[in-house]
Amino acid sequence: MKKVSIYRPSTTDEAIRILSQHGTEAAVYAGGTDLLVRLKNRLKQAPSYLVDIKKINDLRYIKEDAGGDVRIGAATKLAEIGDSDLLQKRYPMLVKAIHMISSPELRNASTLGGDLLQEVWCQYLRGGYSCWRNGGHLCYGAIGDNSYYHSAMGGRLCYAVYPGDAATALIPFDARVKLATPTGVTELSVEQLVPGDMMVDGRIQSHVVRHNEILTEVVIPPPPPGLRASFEKLRPRGVWDFAMASLAISLQVRNHTIEDARVVFGGIAGRPLRERVVEDFLKGKSLTAELAKQVVPVALANAAPLKYNAMKIEMAKGLLASGLAELDAAG
Ligand code: SF4
Repeated sequence: MKKVSIYRPSTTDEAIRILSQHGTEAAVYAGGTDLLVRLKNRLKQAPSYLVDIKKINDLRYIKEDAGGDVRIGAATKLAEIGDSDLLQKRYPMLVKAIHMISSPELRNASTLGGDLLQEVWCQYLRGGYSCWRNGGHLCYGAIGDNSYYHSAMGGRLCYAVYPGDAATALIPFDARVKLATPTGVTELSVEQLVPGDMMVDGRIQSHVVRHNEILTEVVIPPPPPGLRASFEKLRPRGVWDFAMASLAISLQVRNHTIEDARVVFGGIAGRPLRERVVEDFLKGKSLTAELAKQVVPVALANAAPLKYNAMKIEMAKGLLASGLAELDAAG
């Protein structure tokens, strides 16, 4: 494993000062379930300085504020989210998605922030190949075995899929995040946080957080009246695996009519893929058993599968049909 030095700051400001001092040589260390694997694999982008934020007290909580928003500290463990009565009552779809991440052991260590910002799990990157993400000039995923963890919706430089489930499940609730930066706190939507592969501080990453910024909080507004939501995930193994395809869907329904919709696919693109064409199609329609037959053909028209992963699109369309059926039955 690559040798590292560890800092243990007690405040977010102190952590940001240390991160700023070391540039891209330093990284935030919370649960470690992604970071320590990157160090073990000696990836070129693995840091030399870890800034352990576990001693910062105000990053681990689940609470409801006076306005009805639910706030989750970024260092909150996935297991704590999965066990939260408040979240189960308010956002059962999110809790279901969290329970489908990895394994119970890893959920006890992993944090919400870590799941949102984790590195892609492309086997070429994790195997130390010199690809675009690892300082090289080639994408092996685009030309090699791309059956599991590569985009079926096109790509720019990197074709790895965004691996997290929490972001996919948070977007239907219009969740937002807070970042602590050297110039103060900034807020953005979860969609804006993980826009897919892009250059940040000279490196390819799936999120917009810079080397000296820290994700501190996720804020989820109260669900609107009549909201029904569902999450489902298809994966090669029943536990401890990433999505081949997943779907988080929410519909705001009044008198059987869909007033608003959020449709977000995971596991098929470099970001949680919000399918706005389907959302627009659903608005104003009656939620009936027949609706899936009309909407599935219009979904994912921009699909661009690689040689071995066209089945991801069929899986995603199947999830859309079953998700709509589940929400219809929930009425
Ligand atoms: S998909 Fe991304 S991580 Fe995988 S080989 Fe290509 S550039 Fe590297």
